[in-house]
Amino acid sequence: MACTGCAETNLIAIRMRIGTEEVVFQRCNRCEINKWASTDGELSLDEILDLARAK
Ligand SMILES: [Zn+2]
Repeated sequence: MACTGCAETNLIAIRMRIGTEEVVFQRCNRCEINKWASTDGELSLDEILDLARAK
């Protein structure tokens, strides 16, 4: 997966579980964009916060 900001392909990816969802946190070294994705696709920060709140 490439960065949506600068097309950098060497992203840091950290897999973690938030609530009931397995998500991947990605960070771009070049433009410092952070993004979240689940197996279903990209997640917004709001969706991540919802997952963190739901127990
Ligand atoms: Zn980038």
